[in-house]
Amino acid sequence: MLVLPPDGHVHTEWSWDAADGSMERSCARAVELGLPSIAFTEHADFTRWVIDPDVAARTRSRHPAWIGPDDRFSPPPLDVAGYLACVQRCRDRFPGLRILSGTELGEPHWHKDAVNALLGTGTFDRVLGSVHSLELDAIRLVDLLFDRAEPADLIQAYLGEALRLAESTAPFAVLAHIDYPVRHWPAEAGPFDATRFEDEYRTVLEALARSGRVLELNTRVPLPAVIVRWWYEAGGEALVFGSDAHWPAVVARRFAYAASAAEATGFHAGRYPHDFWRRNAIR
Ligand SMILES: [Zn+2]
Ligand SMILES: [Zn+2]
Repeated sequence: MLVLPPDGHVHTEWSWDAADGSMERSCARAVELGLPSIAFTEHADFTRWVIDPDVAARTRSRHPAWIGPDDRFSPPPLDVAGYLACVQRCRDRFPGLRILSGTELGEPHWHKDAVNALLGTGTFDRVLGSVHSLELDAIRLVDLLFDRAEPADLIQAYLGEALRLAESTAPFAVLAHIDYPVRHWPAEAGPFDATRFEDEYRTVLEALARSGRVLELNTRVPLPAVIVRWWYEAGGEALVFGSDAHWPAVVARRFAYAASAAEATGFHAGRYPHDFWRRNAIR
């Protein structure tokens, strides 16, 4: 049987947006799939998004604490102690699975003090850095911006912010989902073509490689293989796969496909099954 790569990006009930998440059932699913390792990278978001008044009203009725008096969305904090205790219970219950603790930091380059405070409260084996928000007319979640800007302009703005994150000294090891806005690319704009943004992608990838960090091949879209090739050409040393699962059934989604795409572009499994994938010395 093909050994799938480790899943380096999974959310569970400890992430504020994963109501259907379950750490225990995600572990069971990983064991069933034969994964060597899984990282639970729960959300830590500090950016307060401007949202439409009707969205604010709807959200306030279900989660009053999530909406501030100014109608901004305020993501709830990660319960680090509860989360880490759950990781320990799962390590005891699934001794054959290597379970990494972790967190996914939203815009960590905007929130230095809050990020340092969070990382000081526990041991996080895997820290992802993400851009989920952009400042256009106001700071908003990318998901809600496609009806306010041209799709191509949004991709460029996103890659501009990803570049600022990659060039920052924010304490993260892996750049998550460089293709995040592609999830919301409108059908009427035609198929998404990464080569239209080749220069912008390459600029981010070169900065990320210089920083010594790792690129994530997120399988939600999934990440176009050409971007993995640009990562190789930028000198990227390592690659990690992430399903970005928010419920157990989609842990390691499309990993067989993603692994063969990564192999075809110059990366191979690490020495140990739970390692990052590494670039080939010679193509
Ligand atoms: Zn994310
Ligand atoms: Zn995520």
